[in-house]
Amino acid sequence: MKERTLSIIKPDGVSRDLIGEVIRRLEAADLKITAMKMIKMTKEQAKGFYRVHEGKPFYESVTRFMSSGPCVVMVLEGEDVIKRYRKLMGATNYKEAEPGTIRREFATDIEKNVVHGSDSQENALFEINYFFSELEIA
Ligand code: ATP
Ligand code: MG
Repeated sequence: MKERTLSIIKPDGVSRDLIGEVIRRLEAADLKITAMKMIKMTKEQAKGFYRVHEGKPFYESVTRFMSSGPCVVMVLEGEDVIKRYRKLMGATNYKEAEPGTIRREFATDIEKNVVHGSDSQENALFEINYFFSELEIA
């Protein structure tokens, strides 16, 4: 089924000059980019984005991290794209991620794991609407 997902190159990925590397991998895997921009979130905006994690021990830290510098946010579109992109990213904990995945290759920490990807259609819709209006999606 054709669907959309939200991708973020997190502040560690941007500051370590991995924007090109991540986009190259998306294109090589035929994950089509239909919207893209660079943003810098405030702490409040990061908390709103990760509101599903409110109350978890890492919530404070991850929202501080996500608001620490610019991110690249993108909408990806295609057949089964939510699952396909999460496979390309690898597991949250890079030490458990499959070899060749973005997180296994580039993450330095369970928090500083370079990329974000929506985990369900419901969350993808919320996350895409959080950053993009329909007008901005090609
Ligand atoms: P994301 O939502 O960013 O794509 P994910 O779905 O693989 O990642 P989540 O469980 O949604 O993982 O966690 C969101 C983010 O919070 C993680 O990507 C990571 O940056 C951070 N995080 C998750 N678990 C931990 C943890 N145990 N300690 C520190 N940070 C964590
Ligand atoms: Mg998640």
